[in-house]
Amino acid sequence: MPDETQRQAERERPPRIAILGAGPAGLAAGYFLKRHGYKDVMIFEKLGRVGGLCKSVTDGYMAFDLGGTYITPAYHETLKIARVVRAERYRGKSYEMVKVVKDDQGKKSLKRDDAWGYARRGLGDQAEPIGIVQLVRGVFAFWWQRRKVRRYVDTPSFERVHERKDLCVSFGAWLDSHDIGFMRRLFEIPVTMMGYGFLDEVAAPYVLKYMAPGTYWSMFLRGLPFVGLFWAWPQRFREGFQRMWERVSWGLNVRMDVRVLGVRRQERRELPIELDVETADHLYPHEEGRTRRTLCFDKLILACPLTREVLEQFIALRDDEAVLFERIHAHTYVQNTLHAVTVDSTTGEEKPFKLFAPVVPVFPFDETTFGKPWVVVQVWGNQSRLLQFYSRIDPEGKDARSIRTDVEAASHELLHLLKDSDTCATPVEAGSIPGHERLQRWSTYDRWPYFSHVSAEDMAGGFFSRLDAIQSIQNTYYTGGAATFEMVEAVVRHAKYIAEKVHRDLRKEAFPKPRRVPFGMLHPPYAEAERLVE
Ligand SMILES: Cc1cc2nc3c(=O)[nH]c(=O)nc-3n(C[C@H](O)[C@H](O)[C@H](O)COP(=O)(O)OP(=O)(O)OC[C@H]3O[C@@H](n4cnc5c(N)ncnc54)[C@H](O)[C@@H]3O)c2cc1C
Repeated sequence: MPDETQRQAERERPPRIAILGAGPAGLAAGYFLKRHGYKDVMIFEKLGRVGGLCKSVTDGYMAFDLGGTYITPAYHETLKIARVVRAERYRGKSYEMVKVVKDDQGKKSLKRDDAWGYARRGLGDQAEPIGIVQLVRGVFAFWWQRRKVRRYVDTPSFERVHERKDLCVSFGAWLDSHDIGFMRRLFEIPVTMMGYGFLDEVAAPYVLKYMAPGTYWSMFLRGLPFVGLFWAWPQRFREGFQRMWERVSWGLNVRMDVRVLGVRRQERRELPIELDVETADHLYPHEEGRTRRTLCFDKLILACPLTREVLEQFIALRDDEAVLFERIHAHTYVQNTLHAVTVDSTTGEEKPFKLFAPVVPVFPFDETTFGKPWVVVQVWGNQSRLLQFYSRIDPEGKDARSIRTDVEAASHELLHLLKDSDTCATPVEAGSIPGHERLQRWSTYDRWPYFSHVSAEDMAGGFFSRLDAIQSIQNTYYTGGAATFEMVEAVVRHAKYIAEKVHRDLRKEAFPKPRRVPFGMLHPPYAEAERLVE
């Protein structure tokens, strides 16, 4: 046994922390640990890029967000980080809606609608439209009811939510219980359309966290005339959300293209976490092929998907972990893009296919639209040919190839409906002949497990308080969408909470006190080194 002096000497080294996953959760955890002054933090990412579900591509000099997109005034922590890394923003454009209608012969066409018109339509076929006064009353009633429960939903995790059984129900049931069930259609737009599920499916606390005042009021205000003159929200990152995370990663110790083969959590006091990793040899050009090595750490933060299926590939879970993580489920969401052009049949000249609005939600939002796109996006209008489609999939009994074939066929069909509908696509340019549009080529296809979540019953059963209770056991911490809500700001706030917890735990273990890094010095990462050179 080492004596006390030896122990003390060992503790003079700074602590070593490993983070698995370089999505927003892992990068934010690394960022906040860096702020606390920890320098020996390594982030391991299995892909060759950072950002996770924040994925951006550049096409024709313009950036497109394929995953995480919008930020609102409620994104306090994300905006602070964005300012430090100098990521520019711009105002996201508003959208208009279309619905698919069938005539007597069953021929489909699209009819234009607007978000407020959709929201005001009564529930059920025979229902009367909702009056403006009633709708406004509903908007304020929701805000008031949310305010009353904010201390249960505005925390980084939902650790106390089980104390309010009335909250642990589906969001649809929660609306009904407050006599604002008539607001359902309005919430289908940010909730169902954005991939979080049907209102009778998603647990109320998730939507209540999502609808933080900055987001909620942005949602309503954007639809009102002239509001855009003084309220430029929601916004997007000019170079894309992934690039904002790339900027964060430049100041952190990120290893990409890494396969984590195994994690062992030992009982010993010194460097108890052992990580077997396989790295690409381009990091170590003197070695051939992929290189395997074992690295040791004091703390481990899991910021990759927290499902039992993913974790058991490399870590032997304890029973309490396994029981929790098997409760987490995700939806299958597809984002695919294609280049669409109109071709003038006389001159052969190609022009971009032009939608009438940058974002076009297509409804009904119900099971009949599973596997078919319910949003089409054309961010840069005339300047770009790229169209983006979002579809929720029911993967039951389908393999990856058939899912892709179905989604591409449905996107194709929707494009033709848009093209044939004079109300929906801006008429093709003068001189060109309608009907000669053709798809030029598919550009991207991503199938993601999206919205890692638990059921309302699991929330009532104390899922989040149990998750909170195991944070730090065996020097392991858990963060990411599943630990809070699948939205960047919620994920960043949770990662900050975990970084602070790790910091507190390390202080208790008598590691040397790190020197806190001032905010402005975080980026560019060379600021400190430059000063030393001078
Ligand atoms: C289509 C779509 C639209 C969205 N729109 C918005 C929006 O407008 N606004 C918003 O706030 N949010 C939006 N989101 C949600 C947002 O992108 C996510 O909440 C956020 O990315 C979650 O971050 P995370 O780090 O928890 O997980 P992820 O982003 O999933 O990152 C996890 C990371 O872990 C890595 N990983 C996995 N396994 C391993 C392993 N074994 N070893 C090492 N690394 C591993 C993954 O490759 C990934 O990089 C959207 C998401 C999608 C899919």
